[in-house]
Parts: sequence; C-alpha cells; structure tokens
Amino acid sequence: MSTVSSVKAVSCPNCGTQVEWIEKNEYRPFCSDRCKLIDFGQWATEQHSIAGAPSFPDFEDDDGGIQ
Ligand SMILES: [Zn+2]
Repeated sequence: MSTVSSVKAVSCPNCGTQVEWIEKNEYRPFCSDRCKLIDFGQWATEQHSIAGAPSFPDFEDDDGGIQ
C-alpha cells in the first residue's frame, strides 16, 4: 500500500542505469563512483583541450548594458 514512491529516477549519464535520486546515492546522477569518475574524466579532458578559451564571452560584452 505504501509502495508508491515519490523518488525521482534518472539515468546514469555514463551507462544508462536507472538511479534513484536520493541522498543515499551520493554518486547521483551516476549509478556508481566508477561512472562518475569516468564521466568526470572525459569532461576534464574536454576542458583541457579548450584551455585558454574564454568561458563566458558574453559576459565581457555585458559591460553594464541592459538588454
Ligand atoms: Zn553508470
């Protein structure tokens, strides 16, 4: 009767495994620390490849201007 869960589930970005979005899952949205590390590693690699590029070029143009 109390099986209805309001827990949100997400798919692990790395392997697609369903992961419950709860505090217990410290690796969310990843299913495990391995997937988290793998994904972060790829992200870090991409960041490294574009090192030196401005992160937010739009901010530099937004010099007190109101759109
Ligand atoms: Zn995973």
